[in-house]
Amino acid sequence: MSIQSNLVSFLKDIPENVKLVAVSKTKPVEDILEAYQAGQRIFGENKAQDVAVKQPQLPNDIEWHFIGHMQTNKVKFIAPFVKLFHGVDSYKILKEINKQALKHGRTIDCLLQFHIAEEQSKFGLSLEEAEQLLSEESFISLENIRITGVMGMSTFTHDKHQVRKEFRHLKQYFDQLKSTCFANDEVFKEISMGMSGDYRIAIEEGSTMIRIGTAIFGERYK
Ligand SMILES: *Cc1c(COP(=O)(O)O)cnc(C)c1O
Repeated sequence: MSIQSNLVSFLKDIPENVKLVAVSKTKPVEDILEAYQAGQRIFGENKAQDVAVKQPQLPNDIEWHFIGHMQTNKVKFIAPFVKLFHGVDSYKILKEINKQALKHGRTIDCLLQFHIAEEQSKFGLSLEEAEQLLSEESFISLENIRITGVMGMSTFTHDKHQVRKEFRHLKQYFDQLKSTCFANDEVFKEISMGMSGDYRIAIEEGSTMIRIGTAIFGERYK
């Protein structure tokens, strides 16, 4: 299957209200261009250096999403163009994104990453931590970022019930924050969940944004 035909069948498969982030990490610009020519405009990368190299070689109307865990010292490489950070889980990183966004006269959208998987991971907030962060004066004073929703990754397992349960938790966190912290905020609306192996379950559980790599571009070899 070609990238183009993978994409076409994907877009047929998903509801209109679900955005497709084509995860092009490790893939060459030629592959991205092929997806672009098939109509895809949103691409996700997880290494700041990689996307900083690819971005200038590709059309300007691509919407770049950063989907990985961000290190503070790398925000500056991508702040001039990145549209949305999916994996934000601390005040420290929000503060840096805000600082770099301000420098470039931009507002950058961010999703709060939650820890929903059973696996031990350093990344992701709990609901309490998120509510705490969102209520702090220091956060409220950040004017060049917008929190537009939540993001999470499920446990890497074949147990579909487990995956469904985790996505359901993320949706509950979203609903909770929507009613407590973002009741009158129209931009807080995205739930980024679902990858090649579990996007159907994610959509059933309320995903508005799926991040698909392998099923579009094929296996990654590095
Ligand atoms: C790599 C990656 C994806 C895409 O994974 P596939 O299984 O190839 O679809 C999605 N989200 C994040 C955060 C990733 O790092």
